Amino acid sequence: MTPTRTDGADWLYVVGLVLLLALFAAGMALAFKAAQPEVPVSIQATTADDGTPVDPGAGSQALHVPVHPGGEVMATPLSFKLPPSGESDARWVVWVSRGVADTIALEGADWRSPTRDFFHPAPTAGVLASGYVFPLPGDWSGDVQLRLEMRGAMPGSVRVRVLREGAALRLEQRGAVIAAFIYGSLLMLTLLMLALYSAARDRIFLVFCSANVLALLALAAINGHLYQVPLLRAMAWWRGQGLWALGLLAAGAALQLLSRYASTQERHPRVARWVDGYCLLLGLLAAVCLLGWEGTLQWIVTAGPWLVLFTLGCGVLLAAEAARRRVRLAGPIAITLLLVAVALYGGEIGFFAPGTDPIWLHYGYQMVLVVFAATLAVGMVDRVGVYRNQRDEDRQARADSEMRMRHETARASLSDALQSNLQTLGPGDVEWTALRLLLEHLLPHVPVEFAAAVAHGFQGHDICMVMPRSAQAEVDSLVATRRLQLKREAVKRLSLQQPVTAPDRDGIIATEALVPLPIHAPGWGMLMLRRSGEQRFLDEELALAEEMVRLVMVNVEQALSAINLRRSAELDALTGTFNRRTIDQWLQRCFTDAERNDQAVSVLFVDLDHFKRINDDYGHACGDQCLRRVAATLHQSLSAGDLLGRYGGEEFIVILPGRGGAAARVAGERLRQAIQDLRIECEGRTLEVTVSIGLATRLGPDEKPASTVDRADKALYAAKREGRNCVRVAPAVFEGRTGGTA
Ligand code: GH3
Ligand code: MG
Ligand code: MG
Repeated sequence: MTPTRTDGADWLYVVGLVLLLALFAAGMALAFKAAQPEVPVSIQATTADDGTPVDPGAGSQALHVPVHPGGEVMATPLSFKLPPSGESDARWVVWVSRGVADTIALEGADWRSPTRDFFHPAPTAGVLASGYVFPLPGDWSGDVQLRLEMRGAMPGSVRVRVLREGAALRLEQRGAVIAAFIYGSLLMLTLLMLALYSAARDRIFLVFCSANVLALLALAAINGHLYQVPLLRAMAWWRGQGLWALGLLAAGAALQLLSRYASTQERHPRVARWVDGYCLLLGLLAAVCLLGWEGTLQWIVTAGPWLVLFTLGCGVLLAAEAARRRVRLAGPIAITLLLVAVALYGGEIGFFAPGTDPIWLHYGYQMVLVVFAATLAVGMVDRVGVYRNQRDEDRQARADSEMRMRHETARASLSDALQSNLQTLGPGDVEWTALRLLLEHLLPHVPVEFAAAVAHGFQGHDICMVMPRSAQAEVDSLVATRRLQLKREAVKRLSLQQPVTAPDRDGIIATEALVPLPIHAPGWGMLMLRRSGEQRFLDEELALAEEMVRLVMVNVEQALSAINLRRSAELDALTGTFNRRTIDQWLQRCFTDAERNDQAVSVLFVDLDHFKRINDDYGHACGDQCLRRVAATLHQSLSAGDLLGRYGGEEFIVILPGRGGAAARVAGERLRQAIQDLRIECEGRTLEVTVSIGLATRLGPDEKPASTVDRADKALYAAKREGRNCVRVAPAVFEGRTGGTA
């Protein structure tokens, strides 16, 4: 069974993305609902730091204040008009998006706000704050002139809004929801990857974990939330450098992860080496940032954005190349990464409208980053499926090779059994025994309901062997009704398997495999295997059956030819009776048995009368025909267990084990009579022959076979002398020379 590749991660991906988007939409809906400021406020920015007037557009509630790095305090004048407030109205606040600044404060003519520090947030600031909130004195109304003082800021821009306190709170809540969503998603993905690592033990999941944790830290630092977490707030010591260090590390780890995910190492080793080197460089730069050298910040804030953009570009290229190779989800990964770049740098190139929600501008790319991480995670989840398939394949391969080994052993043991069993058998037993061994050795490896070896004209035998025996009746009736079909299939010499249906039952009741036995025509044979239900026979099972059938056939042929060879050495070529050498051996054996069992044994010497005349009168061919017919007739007239051999010329010898003088004489008389009654057709003529028979019975333990044969020979001569066509019994001792010979 080959394992099929599971594509379960497809719907997992869809469900995951839909879930993410739903969460995202819910967060945004919540955010936009709260985004409406209670009272429209117009802000008039007068000048930027270099004195040029900035016009954010009439009716705009947001002011972009460009900020620059450097130790000096940078003051941006702000002016806005506050409508008169009623008693119940909430205070006005100035909300400044949480740009990276060492100090940030508002200063009016006779009023100064508390100073805020990005790296050391005020205890009153929310855990997931997204802006600095400066409440204005409650009694202010009309034209307000303020200066936004920032120091040590990173490049970029902050956005300023003037709104009622409640609206500012909702803005903050909105930011908190989105930040929580971002951190929660990344944390969840990290945990998922840890779980996957513990399940699959693939290092790539650990790389994902580290990249994810670094991204989480970097985003938390960029959002300023990191500095509100105990212990982690120690990062504040490095200020902007620490922030950049985390950002570069996260970028490097993400690129490294992407390179591994895209299997760049296998496909483009040089590119992979380059990526490794670049990631190492990013790591080194991060380390340099952490060293806190004078001037590092100045350098890194200039180069950092380009490095991040370049890293993003590399990531997009890697993913796009992987997508070309149809690496799973590489396309969506490339697209989300591209979107991250657009969301991150779009603001800088004026991609977004000036009125775009500051929260969206701030968190937008982070959300897309989450989608990117989630897509990558889904792609990695699929790797588990790949491992599982790989493991299944390995397991299957192991099972296959074990099965092959078992089958090999089975074949070897069948071969051994055939070799050792068939050699000692006589013809007739060989075929039967071979088929029995076939079933006995096959069935332990091919489980069946029943198996039958059906053979017709197999070396002249018809066999139907069934295992288990209880199925014999069923198989007999099956073979009787399907004989023609089985024969047709057997002749094709091709194995097949087919479902078995029954007229009185619905559906498939069994599966049947037919493996032809290669028997010489017109004979045919079929190995029939049947198992209940629809479970098909494996290719390996059928291959084993075929191989075993082949083995059986080869061994039967060999055994039979060995038997034939043995027989030709034992038998007389003309008459088919034992030859002299064999009959001598049998004599010896019969005498030994007689001795052991204390039984009688008699020997008859049979000689054709005047045979020379037959040769002379009818020719040698007729003589041969006579010898054959006489031998056959003698054979037919003998009882089971009697032995007949041609002793030479026209003389035959008969051994009658277990028979003493009287019984032997009766037997001899029967032989003589049978030959006398025999009519031999030869060349259109009918011949008649007679035989003279000399009989000797073993006298006792002292008598050797040769001596008994000698006495029988003498008795034969006596028979010849006394007129032929008669049986003469040898006395225990022939008297004198004349008594023994003619
Ligand atoms: P008797 O009654 O005294 O036995 O006379 P006989 O002719 O049978 O005796 P004899 O021993 O003189 O002749 C045996 C003959 O058998 C001689 C030989 O031609 C013949 N003979 C022996 N072996 C074969 C054989 O294989 N084929 C044929 N056609 N004749 C054989
Ligand atoms: Mg003779
Ligand atoms: Mg003779």
